[in-house]
Amino acid sequence: MSIEELARENVRALTPYQSARRLGGNGDVWLNANEYPIAVEFELTQQTLNRYPECQPKLVIERYAEYAGVKPEQVLVSRGADEGIELLIRAFCEPGKDAVLYCPPTYGMYSVSSEAFNVECRTVPTLADWQLDLPAIAENIEGVKVIYVCSPNNPTGQLINPQDFRVLLEMARGKALVVADEAYIEFCPQATLAGWLNEYPHLVVLRTLSKAFALAGLRCGFTLANEEVINLLMKVIAPYPLSTPVADIAAQALSPQGINAMRERVAEILVNRQYLIAALHDVACVEQVFDSETNYVLARITASSAVFKSLWDQGIILRDQNKQPSLSGCLRITVGTRTECERTIAALREQPGLTATEGV
Ligand SMILES: *Cc1c(COP(=O)(O)O)cnc(C)c1O
Repeated sequence: MSIEELARENVRALTPYQSARRLGGNGDVWLNANEYPIAVEFELTQQTLNRYPECQPKLVIERYAEYAGVKPEQVLVSRGADEGIELLIRAFCEPGKDAVLYCPPTYGMYSVSSEAFNVECRTVPTLADWQLDLPAIAENIEGVKVIYVCSPNNPTGQLINPQDFRVLLEMARGKALVVADEAYIEFCPQATLAGWLNEYPHLVVLRTLSKAFALAGLRCGFTLANEEVINLLMKVIAPYPLSTPVADIAAQALSPQGINAMRERVAEILVNRQYLIAALHDVACVEQVFDSETNYVLARITASSAVFKSLWDQGIILRDQNKQPSLSGCLRITVGTRTECERTIAALREQPGLTATEGV
């Protein structure tokens, strides 16, 4: 047997997550991964690298619990929110039997993680306004153990209606976990569902330091849930999921000064987002600009593949969302520095728009 044939069938069939880094590019304006555009400096204070780290570093857990307004027992820290997505599948889904449900267009890791564990992915496309199709979810919920809902949604940028979350939570009660992926919640903090944990034993909230905290390279994320869920996840997590330097830097990022600095970054990004959206409305090749509660903007663009390629060749790297359901012609642009936004707008202005006849 060839090595390929030795591998599990679902792994052979798997397409790995097409991360921004994997897709490559040779740019100087990176607006494809929803990162913060400028590096924040930290110094290491823990030098005891001869010792194994704490599994769940106490200071990080305490500071995150305080920041999120939950109890320390309701917090799990992991190697990014992506690991949280995976731990939920490993702890709750029986391969070949249970299913995961999510609503495209949305984040790509829900399907990649399910497929890697041979867990069925059930998709219920969103409505035309990208809100949940609750009747269709009800029809497909049989056998589902984990439902992922990204809010605000990546890549569309809008919040899911809180009332729809309530209906979904009632529908799933006693049957499945409802996971609210809040990777971008710092850009609209009032919308968090963390305050609902006491009402719903099956609610899970995912968070990350990769976006507003400017620490994508750190690989640190959080799962907020009731203690019963956290204890189950603790059974399947690696013994030492975070290295000592990661825990050290995460604790600093979550200090009062760290949180203030994060809020200042958010305020600055929101100003740049307003500039970017207003400017996009005034560009010939831009057909539609969607509102955003996040640090990225989705736009529908004439001949989007050619535009994407042209900007790529100029070193401006955006994210092509054209393949996602209902997003034909759409590119996602991370809100960068003001200069990066201006360069992107200038490059887009050089692209042809619809001609009068095509526009009819
Ligand atoms: C970026 C992102 C994540 C991953 O966060 P990490 O902590 O970097 O693993 C999870 N969910 C969504 C919706 C994201 O956009």
